[in-house]
Amino acid sequence: MFIGVDLGGTNIRVGAVNSSGQVFHRLSLPTRVNLGLEEVIGRIVSTILSVIEQSEKEGHQIRGVGIGSAGIIDIRTGTVVSSPNFPEWSQVPLKLIMENKIPYPVFVDNDANAFAYGEKWVGVGKNVQSMVCITLGTGVGGAIILGGRLWHGFDGMAGEVGHMTVQPNGLRCNCGNYGCLESYASASSVVRRIKLAIQSGRTTIVMDQVNGDQDKITSTIVYQAALEGDPLAKEIMEETAVYLGIGIANLINLLNPELIVVGGGLANAWDMLYPITIAEVHRRAFASLAQTAQIRKASLGDDAGIIGAAGIASFSLKEVAYAI
Ligand SMILES: [Zn+2]
Repeated sequence: MFIGVDLGGTNIRVGAVNSSGQVFHRLSLPTRVNLGLEEVIGRIVSTILSVIEQSEKEGHQIRGVGIGSAGIIDIRTGTVVSSPNFPEWSQVPLKLIMENKIPYPVFVDNDANAFAYGEKWVGVGKNVQSMVCITLGTGVGGAIILGGRLWHGFDGMAGEVGHMTVQPNGLRCNCGNYGCLESYASASSVVRRIKLAIQSGRTTIVMDQVNGDQDKITSTIVYQAALEGDPLAKEIMEETAVYLGIGIANLINLLNPELIVVGGGLANAWDMLYPITIAEVHRRAFASLAQTAQIRKASLGDDAGIIGAAGIASFSLKEVAYAI
């Protein structure tokens, strides 16, 4: 068995994963980024050790640990170069730190890559050789699988589909660029754009639902308001779907993938987003490519990151063995 770790800005999720991709002994702990690097490391280690202990008690043999971490990861050294979710983290040698505290080999990759690996291994991407994953969460994450394998790019940082420019004069993104897909298709961008509209004088039932407190607006509340027919909320959700379609059309023309997988919190609004997104894709992408590319919602939920991280560890260990 391999231990899979989904390391996010909000939660540390850990599980033991068998060779069929089934998860056992799930354990989750709030990350508490505000407590500082050492404390967060301590929380990751104790959660992992606890899952290892439970698994070994049942006679399972642990062979390695995979960590899917938010941020830019140097996969060769297992270093978190930087991460918007961990502002304090800069060049943190996570693999090295973990291997000093855990008696198994540790592999670190980007959380979106882990998510994609999970969906490819046992989820909606099973049997698919080429796919692009897009996660619509606080940010927009992305991962590319080509020829059945993760495409890491020259520096190991490929797949940042959230930072493709989809609107040249658009909103400023966290990365510093303007008009990134992330500024239009992330859950936080839904909140940001409805706030901007409210500040410009637009009215919406969303404000009633948060008792006039804009800080309480979430993408789920906006989605619910759109379902209830609120014109502004509908407009924001439709805009989100259109920009997602623009991004996906670019990916389809560039890579001709079999499958595009959309996950993350905002994918809960998939039924609303999908028809608009698919129409935009067909409006922009080459007809034959758009015809063959399937666009589907992710299937593994919160487990995808754990399963994928464990899968990456298993795969990496084999690769290392072959290399030797
Ligand atoms: Zn960006």
